[in-house]
Amino acid sequence: MTRGGAITAQRALLAAGIDPDEVRRALPNVDPARTRITPASRAYRRVWAKGIVAVTAPWGISVVPEVFASLTDPNKAWRHGTLIVHELAHLDQYRRIGAWRHIGRYTGDYLSARWHGRNHWDAYRDIRLEVEARAIASRFAPGRHSP
Ligand SMILES: [Zn+2]
Repeated sequence: MTRGGAITAQRALLAAGIDPDEVRRALPNVDPARTRITPASRAYRRVWAKGIVAVTAPWGISVVPEVFASLTDPNKAWRHGTLIVHELAHLDQYRRIGAWRHIGRYTGDYLSARWHGRNHWDAYRDIRLEVEARAIASRFAPGRHSP
């Protein structure tokens, strides 16, 4: 298992068959060549919700070690292309609205949905910043062409 390694998002996108320049056009506030992806430590993963495979902070993207290992594998990388674009979309959001406002909107949407009786996964899915990140990432899904 890789420990302490890092690759650029650019390298992961290229391995997944996604044109980094198209991602730059969709997400003008991020540069995939300057964005680091690192394997998340065991201690960091302990605070992640169940089922989460990647977390993006303003300084970079962390992924579970299994995903990290396949990001540069020519046979497996394509599976994670949309995940990387999704996480880059969160980075673009941080830069656009600021990290604190991002946390406020993110948790505000989640807690409001929970308050209205929705379960964890429904509340998570409907967070507006998640909806936006999914919409952008879906344009880069394998077999699709962005407009
Ligand atoms: Zn997300």
